[in-house]
Amino acid sequence: MGKLTNAINRKHRLPACVLCGFGAMIELHHIVNRGRTVGSNAARSASDAKELTVLLCKLCHGKAHNKRVREELLNIQIQQYGREAVQAALDQVQSHMRTRLGIELPKEK
Ligand SMILES: [Zn+2]
Ligand SMILES: [Zn+2]
Repeated sequence: MGKLTNAINRKHRLPACVLCGFGAMIELHHIVNRGRTVGSNAARSASDAKELTVLLCKLCHGKAHNKRVREELLNIQIQQYGREAVQAALDQVQSHMRTRLGIELPKEK
């Protein structure tokens, strides 16, 4: 079973975009985008954590690679998994990197 299928089974009965609810052209988005983990397989593998990946439709995905949407997605993950689990998943990625990951959780409301 592929990563996308796992993510779908884990989180949703039917795959749907976490931002708009659309149910087609679903893609797996990494909140720690691939560019940040270049050169470290361990960091990249840690970035596959369920706390750090979301399903997005193609349209939302095309607009997701910026700080504003990242914070929106992090808030969704915090609601789903809890703040500590999301922070722990980020720390896990950071632990395999020499450079600063530079992703902070949004401030608590
Ligand atoms: Zn969408
Ligand atoms: Zn993406």
